[in-house]
Amino acid sequence: MCGIVGYVGHRPALDVVLGGLRRMEYRGYDSAGVAVLDGAGALTVERKAGRLANLEAELDKVGRENFGGTAGMGHTRWATHGAPVDRNSHPHRDSTQRVAVVHNGIIENFATLRAELEAAGVEMASDTDSETAAHLIARAYDEGDTKGDFTASVAAVCRRLEGAFTLVVTHADHPDTIVAARRSSPLVVGVGEGEHFVASDVAAFIEHTREAVELGQDQLVVISREGYEVTDFHGDAAQAKPFTVDWDLSAAEKGGHEYFMLKEIEEQPEALANTLRGHFESGRIILDEQRISDQDLRDVDKVFVVACGSAYHSGLVAKYAIEHWTRLPVEVELASEFRYRDPVLDRDTLVVAVSQSGETADTLEAVRHAREQKARVLAVCNTNGAQIPRESDAVLYTHAGPEIGVASTKAFLAQIAANYLVGLALAQARGTKYPDEVAREFAELEAMPAAVHKVLSTVEQTRDLGRRIADSRAVLFLGRHVGFPVALEGALKLKELAYMHAEGFAAGELKHGPIALIEEGLPVVVVMPSPKGRAVLHSKLVSNISEIQARGARTIVIAEEGDETVRPFADELHRGPRRPDAAAAARLHRAAAGARRGDRPRPRVRRRQAA
Ligand code: GLU
Repeated sequence: MCGIVGYVGHRPALDVVLGGLRRMEYRGYDSAGVAVLDGAGALTVERKAGRLANLEAELDKVGRENFGGTAGMGHTRWATHGAPVDRNSHPHRDSTQRVAVVHNGIIENFATLRAELEAAGVEMASDTDSETAAHLIARAYDEGDTKGDFTASVAAVCRRLEGAFTLVVTHADHPDTIVAARRSSPLVVGVGEGEHFVASDVAAFIEHTREAVELGQDQLVVISREGYEVTDFHGDAAQAKPFTVDWDLSAAEKGGHEYFMLKEIEEQPEALANTLRGHFESGRIILDEQRISDQDLRDVDKVFVVACGSAYHSGLVAKYAIEHWTRLPVEVELASEFRYRDPVLDRDTLVVAVSQSGETADTLEAVRHAREQKARVLAVCNTNGAQIPRESDAVLYTHAGPEIGVASTKAFLAQIAANYLVGLALAQARGTKYPDEVAREFAELEAMPAAVHKVLSTVEQTRDLGRRIADSRAVLFLGRHVGFPVALEGALKLKELAYMHAEGFAAGELKHGPIALIEEGLPVVVVMPSPKGRAVLHSKLVSNISEIQARGARTIVIAEEGDETVRPFADELHRGPRRPDAAAAARLHRAAAGARRGDRPRPRVRRRQAA
């Protein structure tokens, strides 16, 4: 998710690699490391948690002259497996220290691979998923069909890995080549004169060359001074896409975008996919860390979601699903309010603390307060090893990658998905959902990245709308059900980014006061529910729109594809993808339950002894 660079050429590799990492600093990271191969096959590695400056200081301390060589690689890490500490930083090496690997992404089946390696006597030096790849490649190189063949060893291991990865690998026996591979994670090759690069983005090498080749899914590349060769994971020649980079350096540092926020908006489908990845295995939702028993989860009788800003809105969105799936009461509260009141908490209360950074002060204090009252705390965070996850009983990481833009985009969407996973985990523990129902809900979540991708294709229409309403005095947002917190989030975004006055309302509240604000030409954004899934709410919202239209407001309606009933009420219509048909899903669920000839499962809740 962060930065990777590899180099084989005629310049000192350490300088090229550090320069590349510096150019990719914009991507955010929590640790950094380098490996350099000299022509004689000596592999030297240095890595350090924290900023690149820490790594550079360490290199100065140990002496940069020890890193002579014109082949090497570097990595900036955004921890997903294991805290951001030195020993988890990349590169990772096998036990004989001949193979070094840097990895971006998540190896989903790492637990199985790790167990296999440990059973074979391998001692792991880190908590990462990535280290498994180094050992596996070393073993593939030492024995079996791929013995002595570096490229084939990497390909064979890639075939075994599940999940998302950009891997760059060096082998001390092959000081003049670097092998890199990708699945669902970016990798580009830089083509120079007598030198070649691999990197997670062109920013890493455009000061040296603008000729690049983009690798396709499940492709592998071998670079040397003389050239590069692309194959698939079976060793068959493959086509990759050559292109010339025409961005300037400053655009390249934002992934080709004008602002980080635009880059992060575009990263939303990938962030969502990463949030879901690895959290559903063998038919079960799994958390990243769980220090409480399944029984404790089963015993939960009340849920508080505690958060600030957009994270708070993510909780409001998820509340509907969590209550529906688990039949538990769910309260969503601002951390800054929660911590200063006297909420009713006990050991059967689950506090879900949602924070992108995992360090939000109010949320952290709310967590401490909850734990003092013996409540259980489950953290939903984007930053591995941060304070809130450290002080919690269970953790689900969003794995959305670093967010640099001021207003939350991909982290917010990832938090919604993660909160849904928390709801499913509780439903699974309490037995309020059958495993096949959990699987079906998860499958619907898995359809989200493609749906978000579709929404992003309408960005021009939205940009145009933004220009037209930029001079308005205020903008109102209305919604019902999950559309209500979406309206709140819409208003928050406008405040934060455009410095405009904006308010979000539950549409049913309109007549209890806010309607007084409606005036001629006032833009009102209405988030429509699905006409099929929520027909009653849909018709109520249509009445709300006609009310505000009658008062001269300019209605900007966001409705599902195919929803034609709203057309006459919309001065401007924006389309979103069709949501899963809730009625059809309910029919399916009923059919599935009927097929079992039984009632719905009953919550398996501990029976309390009378006091
Ligand atoms: N999953 C790996 C780790 O936690 C790589 C994370 C990254 O993409 O930087 O070390």
